[in-house]
Amino acid sequence: MTPGKTGNTGRPSTARSVEEHCAHVERLLDPLSSLPPVDVSPEAALGRVTAADISSPVDLPLFRNSQMDGYAVDAASLDTIPVTLPTRGVVAAGPGTPPPHEPGTAVRIMTGAVIPDGADAVVPVEDTVVDGDYVTISRRRRTGEYVRERGTDVTKGTLLLPAGTVLTPRHIALLAAVGSQTVSVRALPRVAVVTTGTELVPAGRSLRPGEIYDSNGTALSVSATANGGNVVSVIHSDDDSATFRAILTRAAAIADVIFTSGGVSMGDFEVVKETLAPLGGEFVHVGMQPGGPQGTAVFDGVPVLNFPGNPVSTLVSFEVFARPVLRRAAGLPSLEQPRLALATDVTSVAGKRQFLRARTTGETVEPVAGPGSHLVAAMAWSNVLIDIPADVEFLAAGELVEVWPL
Ligand code: AMP
Ligand code: MG
Repeated sequence: MTPGKTGNTGRPSTARSVEEHCAHVERLLDPLSSLPPVDVSPEAALGRVTAADISSPVDLPLFRNSQMDGYAVDAASLDTIPVTLPTRGVVAAGPGTPPPHEPGTAVRIMTGAVIPDGADAVVPVEDTVVDGDYVTISRRRRTGEYVRERGTDVTKGTLLLPAGTVLTPRHIALLAAVGSQTVSVRALPRVAVVTTGTELVPAGRSLRPGEIYDSNGTALSVSATANGGNVVSVIHSDDDSATFRAILTRAAAIADVIFTSGGVSMGDFEVVKETLAPLGGEFVHVGMQPGGPQGTAVFDGVPVLNFPGNPVSTLVSFEVFARPVLRRAAGLPSLEQPRLALATDVTSVAGKRQFLRARTTGETVEPVAGPGSHLVAAMAWSNVLIDIPADVEFLAAGELVEVWPL
């Protein structure tokens, strides 16, 4: 049984504003932004961010080729329509150079095949009738029609994708078309998540009285993944300092940053604070709700952010402190924080910056349920956080507020 949190009342001595703590976290996680880029295959590059400008190593199209199945001709032979021309062979898509075109003839040609030198137009098969070694063409085509000239898409050396491009399937299609085998992308910071709490059990285990499922491990893991983190481990520790320390040692060996949950506030069994404060960790009260108690540390050279354990506090802490830095480290764009009109009146606690769970349809925004930091369903049903400045206690319906997309 965990006794009530009565053993240590009152705030920790250090208080910080959200802005101050953000700046502190940014400094601590600064090394994440200079991780060396990595080369990955185009297939593995989806969602990754280009580390450098990528120029085309080739012209596209690579050579002059047919845009249609039909007949390659010299357009001058089509001055009078209909016209019947003798046919000369077939050119399929594939390696090789076809013989030069004889003026006044037609060469059967397939889409993507090399156009014989001297031919300058392609008549689609739909506009032709074949009779033995002759083809009758019923529609006039001019020079260049259905001819895909070399380099008309891009020429060798053209900038294909600037550094900082978040690679989508269409970008990767282009890299494949120019024959890229690897692409240099920003490194994904390796993230380890450590949850603390003797009351926590993994899903699948039957719950004894007093136990709950460890949801923060999953929540922080997927939050990190969604924002450019490469989650290398998610481990749970009970509230025993030796166990927690051993787990941190393992996490620090493989991660660029560690996120912990729980054990940072004012109770009797605050394992994170008890373990890391003597090692130089800073445990502070940030003027925000939810997510007031926060910690930071460096363990075995690896930066550690210590979030409070209430599931909503954990998620909001991630949004406010970790998400922006992680995205920047991964090269992902920062998220827009638009201003929207409140659909209802809102009250707030003086002296604390509030991050209210809320829903928007794009026009107006409305809080979802109350401020309790255990209300995980309300968090799930919200799609933004309303950011209410610390000095504001009341906002009337219609007033504009800044929202953070979730
Ligand atoms: P703590 O910050 O450790 O005092 O925890 C605050 C509250 O959050 C308590 O009700 C914990 O049971 C709960 N909590 C802590 N960690 C987790 C977690 N990983 N998953 C779900 N709830 C948690
Ligand atoms: Mg705890």
